[in-house]
Amino acid sequence: MAWHSGLAQGTRNRFGGLGSIIMLHRVRRDCISPLGVTRSLSITPKFLDEILASLRSEGTEFVSMDEMAERVKSGARRDRRFVAVTLDDGYNDNLNHAYPVFQKHSVPFTVYVAPGFIEGAAVLWWEVAEKLIAKAAYIKVPGGPEWRCSTLFQKRAAFHGLMRYFSYTLTELEQLPVLREMCAAADMMCGVTADQDVMTWKQLRQISADPLCTIGGHTVHHYNLKRLTAGMAAQEMRQSADMIGDELGKRPAHFAFPYGSAKAAGRREADIAAQEGFVSAVTTRHGTIHVEHHANLHALPRISINGRFQKLVYAQTMMSGVTTPIANAGRRVVQGG
Ligand SMILES: [Zn+2]
Repeated sequence: MAWHSGLAQGTRNRFGGLGSIIMLHRVRRDCISPLGVTRSLSITPKFLDEILASLRSEGTEFVSMDEMAERVKSGARRDRRFVAVTLDDGYNDNLNHAYPVFQKHSVPFTVYVAPGFIEGAAVLWWEVAEKLIAKAAYIKVPGGPEWRCSTLFQKRAAFHGLMRYFSYTLTELEQLPVLREMCAAADMMCGVTADQDVMTWKQLRQISADPLCTIGGHTVHHYNLKRLTAGMAAQEMRQSADMIGDELGKRPAHFAFPYGSAKAAGRREADIAAQEGFVSAVTTRHGTIHVEHHANLHALPRISINGRFQKLVYAQTMMSGVTTPIANAGRRVVQGG
């Protein structure tokens, strides 16, 4: 709506700033989510193609995260705004479906990888939980709450209840063993590497050989860093970069905070990312990039392309920056809080 009214174009210079960092997760033809609850994490290759073509036709400059950081540091205002494309978690559809689209448009992109997913030391637990609840008529957390889940309505409520319980009641280290126990009770696989839709090291070597591709760190175990001690948080960041460096021959210079909301990444986490030598760190908080971010390179906002609304107008309106003050209650630069 805002885009059609011309509001987005009118406010572009005021709010749009230097450019945007786009956040994606999955890119696949059928955006299936058994309960519809993780639907927003997927977009189709066709929609990605449309977004990139549209941005290019508007004169957008696509940049790598290295170039993004240089531009923010230099602070030089340019006529053309930049877009840096990022994808979280290293799904294998990034290689199979997104990569050909990036190649077609010569668009640089960054994939944030958590080595634990690759080696089976961590699982995409929100996806496992969704599959588990889709299959079960009843679930019980060992020593915790239980939910009846025979109808779709109950299943969705159970999913959100379980998400809250895992995110805020269990510690980060308890999540995986508890989920494994629940899967075993339902006779379901959990955390088998082949069952996870993430790229293997071999596939990561293949995609990262292309100069268009940057690999970034995303912790080892996809932990919410705010819920760990400072020492553990630093170790998770450092170790993910070490493991990626060992496997791919290049240590990541960029980092993404798992979950990335204010509940998962604040000032302390931004400071640790800087101390650990990362050039930049991104959150999942909503916003466009401005010169003021030169002092906040380790708490950068992004624009999430939501798979529920795969319409060009929504993406354009968000990248114009017009939605940022709404999302952040009037503040243009989102500080690590
Ligand atoms: Zn993630």
